[in-house]
Amino acid sequence: TAVERVAVRTRDLTKVFRGFRAVDSVNLEVREGNVHALVGPNGAGKTTLFNLLTGFVAPTSGTIEVFDEDVTGRPPEQIARRGVARSFQITSLFDSLTSREHVELALQGTGRQGFRFWRSEKLLGRDTARVEELLGQVGLMPLADTPVGALAYGQKRALELSLALALDPPVMLLDEPTAGMGTEDVDRTIELVRRIAAGRTVVLVDHNMRVVGSLADRVTVLQQGRILAEGDYDEVRNDERVITAYLGE
Ligand code: ADP
Repeated sequence: TAVERVAVRTRDLTKVFRGFRAVDSVNLEVREGNVHALVGPNGAGKTTLFNLLTGFVAPTSGTIEVFDEDVTGRPPEQIARRGVARSFQITSLFDSLTSREHVELALQGTGRQGFRFWRSEKLLGRDTARVEELLGQVGLMPLADTPVGALAYGQKRALELSLALALDPPVMLLDEPTAGMGTEDVDRTIELVRRIAAGRTVVLVDHNMRVVGSLADRVTVLQQGRILAEGDYDEVRNDERVITAYLGE
């Protein structure tokens, strides 16, 4: 039997902003192949933890390992090259470019952030079949040549996910993929994330408990920068401390 690997591990990870411990001694273990959800009330430290894991924020103390390699303090592009990538945000889409052009850019590793993605070296030129496969997976082929500015909100979020798929990283961080969506778009997004999660590790932040319950193999609940509870969805859902934390929100 294969030994279960740990994709991302933090040890006593801490981020202090002007005396405020936004992330406080977090020991996180994300197992390879899992969808691992981070949940918690507003201000719990989820975004800061994401920013630490991707190198956008440097830790005050503690360590971060990706597949047992210490990446603490490395810049985002180096962490991305080791296989950890976060989904694009709508704010990084270009209104005047089409969905097809966005996917082409992602495959070429030239996102708006200007850093090269970990597998960009392997890709040469345009690959129309691959572009259309990626757009098809998120249902955007009929709108492939429409400028993104004309897409509906849910369609833009679907495009973000196809861009994430284009990068094809072993570890994908998804930041609230269903934020602001109606029920139908949420259902579609759950299916998309399930597809994204096949054959890779996903760390997911989402406020929608139906999303977390449908997708997560493991759930870490954060409160005031600390891990409050951890387990599968049913375990944490029934945890008294978690119930109390959410009632207090
Ligand atoms: P969540 O994503 O769970 O809502 P955040 O990670 O955004 O939580 O924030 C955790 C805490 O850290 C909040 O109290 C927030 O105000 C604080 N914080 C986040 N970023 C900064 C920053 N750059 N400077 C100062 N405080 C920050």
